[in-house]
Amino acid sequence: MEKLKNYINGKWVDSNSKEFIDVINPANQEVLAKVPYGKGTVKDVQKAIESGHLAYLEWKDVPTMKRVQPLFKLKTLLEKNKHQIAKIITTECGKTLKESEGEIQRAIENVEVACGSYVMNQSEFSENIAPGIDEFMIRQPLGVCGCITPFNFPGMIPFWFLPYAIATGNAFIIKPSEKVPLTMRFIIELIDKHLDLPEGLISMVHGGKESVDQILENSKVKAISFVGSSEVAKYIYSQASKYGKRVQAQGGAKNPLVIMPDVDLETTTQIIIDSVYGCAGQRCLAASVIIPICDDKGLLKESLIDSAQKRKVGYGLEKNTEMGPVITPNSKIRIENLIQEGIAEGSNLLVDGRNKSISGYEKGNFIAPTILEGLPLNGKILNTEIFGPVMNLIEFKKLESAIDFINKGRYGNMACIFTKDGLSARKFRNEVMAGNVGINIGVAAPVAQFPFSGWKESFFGDLHGQGRHAIEFFTQTKVVVERWPKEWTRKF
Ligand code: NAD
Repeated sequence: MEKLKNYINGKWVDSNSKEFIDVINPANQEVLAKVPYGKGTVKDVQKAIESGHLAYLEWKDVPTMKRVQPLFKLKTLLEKNKHQIAKIITTECGKTLKESEGEIQRAIENVEVACGSYVMNQSEFSENIAPGIDEFMIRQPLGVCGCITPFNFPGMIPFWFLPYAIATGNAFIIKPSEKVPLTMRFIIELIDKHLDLPEGLISMVHGGKESVDQILENSKVKAISFVGSSEVAKYIYSQASKYGKRVQAQGGAKNPLVIMPDVDLETTTQIIIDSVYGCAGQRCLAASVIIPICDDKGLLKESLIDSAQKRKVGYGLEKNTEMGPVITPNSKIRIENLIQEGIAEGSNLLVDGRNKSISGYEKGNFIAPTILEGLPLNGKILNTEIFGPVMNLIEFKKLESAIDFINKGRYGNMACIFTKDGLSARKFRNEVMAGNVGINIGVAAPVAQFPFSGWKESFFGDLHGQGRHAIEFFTQTKVVVERWPKEWTRKF
């Protein structure tokens, strides 16, 4: 079985670690590769940081216009290889091929926006703030920047950061999730073969907590970008801050959709179902709490039950599959236990997706769409990120009560409202405490020129990934005040 190498100083090298864990296809438990893990990976990270630091010293002086040229090439490379990358994502991560292709499209869009970094990175200049004195602000890179990513978007999330970090003059080290390291391995191979970058400018290291801790502690790393669960995000934020680093740490979610009584039932049902069950519910912008306002006749409820039961579950590489497996057997057990706890809390199991077996993929981590109705507002399930295909259906009589419930929640990644009434939409948009808000949208994912926001325990930090925020995150400002008195004028 292949043992994955690290990419350090422009070369593929064996890990210092003797410990490896399996990378597994979640649809059938096939072992795809072995990935370095454990204490031995610390040395790998140290080497990547050292070579990154040297590459940064060279790269920071390359003019911005030149620094973005490899990104134009990278965009073409990702486009040409989109289908192949998507197949790798589906194989190691489980989502459908269409979802994987959509993911790579988002990565490409971030590269496109970063290609305009020389415009976003321009200095600000004020002439004559006093007689003969000008003042200006320039942006300079930070140094080596570390990036730690989760399992659910192995091809997209690194690109919320990588192209901006490089365009602004930094070196970049990616530590992908140990569950899905093959996607970035393939992309880094493309970068290695086709882009002319200083050795060490982009590195990839494997591992878990030990390698992450080295990225956090090493004084040559100046900034950390993290995406993952809130517990780890909080740890990353506090550790990175302790070591004096800039940090953006995106965490978990429990996203509500409020459905007003004036919506069109058929289209709204489809949008809800796609949001809850897309990527098997394993995305940070998946809706998980559906809140109809005054569904007195239960029409929306009936429509959701019907559509959830029709969703075709299977292997993501097979045609017509609408929903793949969850990532690991442990994840499946965790989600099924939470469903059981929801029942114990007194909720009504409207659709039961447990014990789902797919012919030909009996070993896969499959859970079919599930709906739990009427959970207690202060109970465990409504306040826990399930990260699986489980809808929590609760009802309120008034929009105010729904907003109040949402705002009391732990997370604030996304909140959406469905309505034809402008005043309700406006009230919701203004009052709801979430970083990404949708109006008649099921997955309010910001396109690449907007920051990927998040409030409360969904985000720890200040500046966010993507677009202009990313340029600000990966640069530090320097304000220069210059005096050139008239009396010094020379006559030539
Ligand atoms: P995770 O937190 O378990 O792992 C994320 C990364 O952190 C991995 O690279 C892992 O190796 C590393 N890690 C894990 N435990 C660690 C520890 N104790 N110390 C240091 N590093 C550690 O997350 P996951 O299960 O891979 O991903 C799912 C989570 O990510 C969900 O909570 C989801 O909501 C969240 N997520 C958030 C966003 C967002 O934009 N807010 C996007 C995608 C996923």
